[in-house]
Amino acid sequence: MDVFPLPALAALAFILGSLIGSFLNVVIYRLPAGLSVVWPRSRCPHCEHTLSPAELVPIASWVLQGGRCRNCKAAISVRYPLVEALTAALFSLSAILHPVFPDLVFIWAFIALLIALSFIDIDTKTLPNSLNFTGFFLGLLGAGALGFPHSFQTALEGGLMGAGLVALFAGYGGWLYNRFKDAPREGPFGVHLVHLAAMLGAWGGMFGTMGGLWLGSLGILVGLLNASLNARTGKVWALHDSLTLGLAALAPLAAWALDLSPLESLRGLLVSAGGMALAGMLYWWLRNPSDKVEPPSSEEKPEGYVTVMGYGDVVLAGFLGVWLGFANLLVAVFIAVFAGAVIGLVMRRYGGDNQIPFGPYLAIGGLVAFFYGTALVQWYLSYIGL
Ligand SMILES: [Zn+2]
Repeated sequence: MDVFPLPALAALAFILGSLIGSFLNVVIYRLPAGLSVVWPRSRCPHCEHTLSPAELVPIASWVLQGGRCRNCKAAISVRYPLVEALTAALFSLSAILHPVFPDLVFIWAFIALLIALSFIDIDTKTLPNSLNFTGFFLGLLGAGALGFPHSFQTALEGGLMGAGLVALFAGYGGWLYNRFKDAPREGPFGVHLVHLAAMLGAWGGMFGTMGGLWLGSLGILVGLLNASLNARTGKVWALHDSLTLGLAALAPLAAWALDLSPLESLRGLLVSAGGMALAGMLYWWLRNPSDKVEPPSSEEKPEGYVTVMGYGDVVLAGFLGVWLGFANLLVAVFIAVFAGAVIGLVMRRYGGDNQIPFGPYLAIGGLVAFFYGTALVQWYLSYIGL
């Protein structure tokens, strides 16, 4: 649909992006504080002076005021104009790369959500469920209604397998890191149910997609029954991680030995784990819909158990999986791990605070893979001679 010539569209996208970026600054600041993102109007955090329209022009106001409040002259962080400029640049770039409506509106939402999530993760080490699940369901809506960026089935499978991949990375990682110690039991809906569903899905999957589907669904059903048993009895009934994770790891090997399908077994493993993890996170989110980040209390963390990743990363991987599909999600995770290693090394070299969480890296990987994932995979395949 050629409504605008491309340069005009890119310029309009830049202006729209800077305005959305200005709103994202508000979201990034207020959402973890448990405040409304639409009311009241923006104020200077130092002198409480309500900002006038002239002080709210993205990027320009900050530059013209020399980075200071017009009323009290307190310094305003350079991060505000940077978030606005970043959003503007990415909106503009995406308009050039994919000038198609209404797809572009979905892409802009994808970019805006990832920017808000990244900065909130840097500030608070949390990824708000409201943003993660908005991205997850918006992606399913786009795939279902427009077939963009791919079919609904690719989106749903990508989301479940993406969440499953990161959930099991956290599950196995924590289990190994803590020397096979059982994870803390959380009721009624905890990680043990994810590991149980993963194990059943892995053993079902080896009989092909239908087997995976049936036993995977059975795994999720058993998990839900387990959760309701926990809720009724007020205890947490759970199989030890060493049993469920060990048996899950055996399934693809057994499939290979029995001349069944090891790949389908892995697929059943990921789909079931992801389905259960997302159902669990949805349950906790609906029980406590606030994104307010409470100050950490010493009682909450069970002593001596270290988790490799937060479950916020699991839902983010589900969100990205819906938008990217599973193949490109793997590209995104690869970029994220690589970027994390490089930036981590650089920061250690220069003695910086090496505390950037994984979310922003996943977001960068997700954006690159969304536009270039397929091209990168094709380039790599031809590079190794396939
Ligand atoms: Zn002020």
